Amino acid sequence: MKAVALFGVGDIRVIEKEVPKIGDKEVLIKVTACGICGTDIHFFKGEWPVKTPLVLGHEFSGVVEKVGSNVTNIKVGDRVVAEPNIPCGECKYCRMSERNFYCENLEATGVTIDGAFAEYVKVPAQNVYKIPDNLTLEEAALIEPLACIVRGLDNVGVKVGSSVAIVGAGPIGLLMAQVVNYYGASKTFVVDMDEDRLKLAKELGATYTINFKEQDPKSFVYEKTEGIGVDISIECVGSSAAIETAFKLSRRGGKLLIFGVAPEHDLWQVKPFELYDKEISIFTSYRSPYTFQRAVEVASSGKIKLKPIISHIFSLDEAPKAFNELTSRRRGMIKVLIKP
Ligand SMILES: [Zn+2]
Ligand SMILES: [Zn+2]
Repeated sequence: MKAVALFGVGDIRVIEKEVPKIGDKEVLIKVTACGICGTDIHFFKGEWPVKTPLVLGHEFSGVVEKVGSNVTNIKVGDRVVAEPNIPCGECKYCRMSERNFYCENLEATGVTIDGAFAEYVKVPAQNVYKIPDNLTLEEAALIEPLACIVRGLDNVGVKVGSSVAIVGAGPIGLLMAQVVNYYGASKTFVVDMDEDRLKLAKELGATYTINFKEQDPKSFVYEKTEGIGVDISIECVGSSAAIETAFKLSRRGGKLLIFGVAPEHDLWQVKPFELYDKEISIFTSYRSPYTFQRAVEVASSGKIKLKPIISHIFSLDEAPKAFNELTSRRRGMIKVLIKP
């Protein structure tokens, strides 16, 4: 089969490899669509350690091609998505109150083991979720990022009527703004410097958009919140500068969710006095433990628009080009899907 593998920093190639052989509790999925995630770009740019060669791709949907002899929950022909994270079930973390993804032996499809920028991918049956007919397989490729968002918002605990600022209007920020509205936010502010993305944020329901090249986000947000800042600010970029902005936008006693994944060696400078004075609660979010089913429900609820976030679709052969264009931040690119 055809696949797209990372061989080293900036070195991604289309290769031929064997179709994965499945075990008795595994499922072989014929991949329909797989999103390029910010994480994949980090791997590509060498900002995160990863063992190569590796077939990337962890945000995927497809149709079940084959099931192992002990698989009962899934059958051939099912339209599915799959949770990429595979905890061991045996380490101390896995055996603590609820099994979670702090697992000491965590594997993940497209991160530590071969992923879905390929014609076929294999996954454990327990990671597979059926999707309803009202979702296209392209839209379903956004369920994995949605599951991560649900985790982040579970952690921060959004209350109905909250004011929320979102820093970054990439695919995550655009999904986050919609899910936050779904939770019942009273006002959502979206901050970015890309006019096209901000326009889309507005179309998708953001109350206010702020282009930080033209306007100081803090003074704008304070003006619209009676001079105090927002209840919750969410960083959706993966950079210390964005965390800094998000921190500034939240009110005293507010909450900050650091959601984007920064490069491994990035540092965020903060004045401890400001932490004290603001008595701000800081939350982080790691992957998507036990939020996949709810993400499927959110995606199929009709309340979140997924299609407008998909800006480009490339073939496997075009994948290296897509990586290069995303890295050089070609204008107009939001979520890029690879379709085998
Ligand atoms: Zn991802
Ligand atoms: Zn474990």
